[in-house]
Amino acid sequence: HKQPYDESNIFARILRGELPAKTVFESEHALAFHDISPAAAVHVLVIPKGAYVSWDDFSANASDAEIAGFVRAVGETARIVGAEPGGYRLLANTGKRAGQEVPHLHVHLFGGQPLGPMLA
Ligand code: 5GP
Repeated sequence: HKQPYDESNIFARILRGELPAKTVFESEHALAFHDISPAAAVHVLVIPKGAYVSWDDFSANASDAEIAGFVRAVGETARIVGAEPGGYRLLANTGKRAGQEVPHLHVHLFGGQPLGPMLA
């Protein structure tokens, strides 16, 4: 059940280089950049380069290489921004009801500070 992908979404435009982003990490399968409106001392978004709407779409339809590349990129990004030793939180809002605003899969990486029980 491949979900339709809107090529004009803001992260697609960042991937095409049409909009700027403060890149933290880039690989064959993933791009990580600072959130424009940070909700924590460290707030980075990690996205796959492929056209996947959500975690649901990605987990069902991406290749093993894309999935491995993406998961590695999330870990590498956490190490680059220094979130790893202090601890960090990953969050993937999936679907409008869960608060997903941009229809291209993104994992939020929060860190750099003590995190409360929940951080949306
Ligand atoms: P969502 O609510 O979809 O899980 O999260 C979308 C995130 O994208 C929000 O945290 C928002 O601040 C961030 N965001 C929206 N537009 C842009 C943009 O143009 N550039 C960057 N770097 N982040 C964005």
